[in-house]
Amino acid sequence: MATVLILGGTRDARELAGSLPGHTVISSLAGRTTSPLLPPGEVRVGGFGGAEGLASFLRTRRVDVLVDATHPFAARISANAAVAAQVTGVPLLVLQRPGWVPGPGDDWRRVRDLSQAAAELPGLGERVFLTTGRQEMAAFAAVKECWFLARSIEPPEPPMPQRLAVIRDRGPFTLDGERNILKDHRIDVLVTKDSGGPAPKLSAARERGIPVLVVDRPSAPPGTETAATVPEAAATIASWTSSPGR
Ligand code: NAP
Repeated sequence: MATVLILGGTRDARELAGSLPGHTVISSLAGRTTSPLLPPGEVRVGGFGGAEGLASFLRTRRVDVLVDATHPFAARISANAAVAAQVTGVPLLVLQRPGWVPGPGDDWRRVRDLSQAAAELPGLGERVFLTTGRQEMAAFAAVKECWFLARSIEPPEPPMPQRLAVIRDRGPFTLDGERNILKDHRIDVLVTKDSGGPAPKLSAARERGIPVLVVDRPSAPPGTETAATVPEAAATIASWTSSPGR
C-alpha cells in the first residue's frame, strides 16, 4: 500500500486525507492551533527540522508521494517540501486553490506584502476588518490612524495594533455573518491574504462598496506539479501510485 504524506493545516488537506482509499495516509500539522480539526488517519504534529528533517522523515517512513497542501502563504514549509522532494526523489504534488480574481463592483488594491498593506491603510479607511491571521498582527502595530477588528482562531499576541477588537472564530463563514460584521462594526476597509477558495467576505465588501487590500501570494517554488482541487489531487495521486516506477 502506497504511503502519502500530506503537509496540512488547511481544509483541503483534511479533505484529501479522507479521499485516498487504499493508501496509508500521514497528515502533518505545524502545531500552531491548540485544538486543530484533525484529519482522518495518522497525524503527526510539529516541525520536521527544516528540509533535511523532512527528507529524513520521507526516507524513514518510506513515503511514496509528498503532498504540499499547506496554505499558500506558508512559504517556508513549501520551500522545504520542494527541496526534500528533490533530494529524496519522492514525487511532490502541490494542492493549492487558485487565487481570487476581482469581479464587477469589486474595489481591490493588490499589495505585495503585509507591510505594504499597513502603509496603504490610512489613506483608505479608518475601521479595518483584518482577516490575515493572528501571526500577521505585528505588521499593523504601528498603524495609529486606524481601529482594527481582527479575526483569528487563537488569541493574538503582541506586537499588535493599539486599537484592536478580536473575534475568535474559525471558518467556513457565511455571507450573512460577514455582512453583519461589516455593518455592526462600521467597517470601511477589508484586508485579506489572497488565500483562494470561497470568500463571502469579498462578496460582503462588494455589496457594501468598501475597498479591499488583497495581499499577493509569496512566489511558489518553480516546476512543481499542482492540483487546484481535492478530487484533482486525489486522481493525480491515484495515477502516480498505480504506475510503479514513476
Ligand atoms: P511556514 O512559515 O511556511 O513554516 C514555518 C515552519 O513551521 C516550517 O519550516 C516547519 O518547521 C513548520 N511547519 C509549517 N507547516 C508545517 C506542517 N504542515 N507540518 C509540519 N511542520 C510545519 O508556515 P506558517 O505560515 O507558519 O503556517 C503554519 C501552518 O499553518 C501550516 O500548516 C499552514 O498550512 C497553516 N496555515 C497557515 C496560514 C498562513 O496564512 N500562513 C493560514 C492558514 C493555515 P520545520 O522547518 O522545523 O519543519
